[in-house]
Amino acid sequence: MSKKGNELYEEVKEKIEQLNDKDSVYSKFRDIWKLASLGKYRSFDLRYFYEDTSREFVEEHKEHLTKIREDFVENIEEYVKKCIEVMRKTNKFKVYYTKTNEEAQKIFMEELGDNKVLYKSKSLEAKDIGIIDVLKKNNIEIKETDLGDVLCQLFDYKHPSFTLAPGVQFTEKEIVAKMKEKYGIDVDAKAEAIVAYYRKNYRPELLNDVKVSLTSANAIAANDGSIILVENEGNISLLTRATEKHIVVVGIQKIVPNVFDALIVAKIHERINSVDGAYISFISAASNTSDIQGKRVFGMYGAKEVVIIFVDDWRIKAAKENLFLKDILKCIACKSCDYVCTASRAFGNIYASKYGIGAINIVRDYIHNGIEAAVKDGLFLCTGCENCTNWCPVGVDLAEIMKTLKKEATEKELCPPSLKEYKDKIFRDKNPFI
Ligand code: SF4
Ligand code: SF4
Repeated sequence: MSKKGNELYEEVKEKIEQLNDKDSVYSKFRDIWKLASLGKYRSFDLRYFYEDTSREFVEEHKEHLTKIREDFVENIEEYVKKCIEVMRKTNKFKVYYTKTNEEAQKIFMEELGDNKVLYKSKSLEAKDIGIIDVLKKNNIEIKETDLGDVLCQLFDYKHPSFTLAPGVQFTEKEIVAKMKEKYGIDVDAKAEAIVAYYRKNYRPELLNDVKVSLTSANAIAANDGSIILVENEGNISLLTRATEKHIVVVGIQKIVPNVFDALIVAKIHERINSVDGAYISFISAASNTSDIQGKRVFGMYGAKEVVIIFVDDWRIKAAKENLFLKDILKCIACKSCDYVCTASRAFGNIYASKYGIGAINIVRDYIHNGIEAAVKDGLFLCTGCENCTNWCPVGVDLAEIMKTLKKEATEKELCPPSLKEYKDKIFRDKNPFI
């Protein structure tokens, strides 16, 4: 084992040891996450709101979804080209295609212009593409709008969290105590009272003050250029309407063949995560009116301008050169593989990267920062159980990808000592059991 391997091993081990302390940041997250993920997973087998279970819904569409994702990956360049053409010609969006994350960051800053405040919805891709780091570097104030993210900002929470509910680890009591400390106000330690506070005090700002907003997209339809966004809070609806400029930063893998496929992806997001997706938005143009003499004028009540920044970075290369990461391009980022993941349930936000919890975010870290980053994120905590692969609604073989990463790490002498001993034993004795 290399010196670096040993350092990374000790780092992961130290975090795991903290799980024995019930007040540590890791055990607090792990305990709530274990409950949440079990609840999410089990609810798929119950008939709460619909006639079919969520799993039945997923199974009904899995074959079609897998087929369209495979078709996209095989014909990635054609889909991207077609989508951009339609968006420019029909939707009148301002569209950029960027080859690298750095290029996307530069264009984003140009589009932001002199604005010093940016309002954003939850956007893993903004983090992934490095937009958040660049905003911080340039002292741009980032205003989160998803309540979970607002709470993470309130607590200055720096640890990885669950993308769909990033504030799930804070108790009502902790939240109101923090509100008292930061805002000097008394709020009842009840979820309803906390929500009412933000509705009364933050919502007017979202309705009146937003000049530039940032969102990602859950899907983008290649045939008509619509941007599809799913949400339950209504913050995305406000951000995409009550703004002057709406910027969408998105990886090209979010493109699907048509609006019907985009709708299925949106519904899968809702159902597989057992959330009441209160709103699904299809944005097909900036706000406009033709009510005066039939003359089309942009910027009626909604966004005056919609800007799309597509990011390629590693994606076309992975598809064209048949790299092992090619399979990840099928991912629709539903994040639900975390619920069934044995490592995620056991280790919570120790099995995570700076992008968020779970294997998919470890792969993300590998793509941007290499194998050492993945080992540091707990790569070897993956048990190889294959639950993720069996669960995925679009057939991503995440377990196989994790296996490939472990192989690379092992070849580079980065695997933990106990596994190294086990490996040596197999090679020496030709039998792991004696
Ligand atoms: S890999 Fe995970 S996040 Fe991606 S589509 Fe499959 S289940 Fe969803
Ligand atoms: S194979 Fe690894 S990543 Fe997949 S569910 Fe099992 S422990 Fe999690």
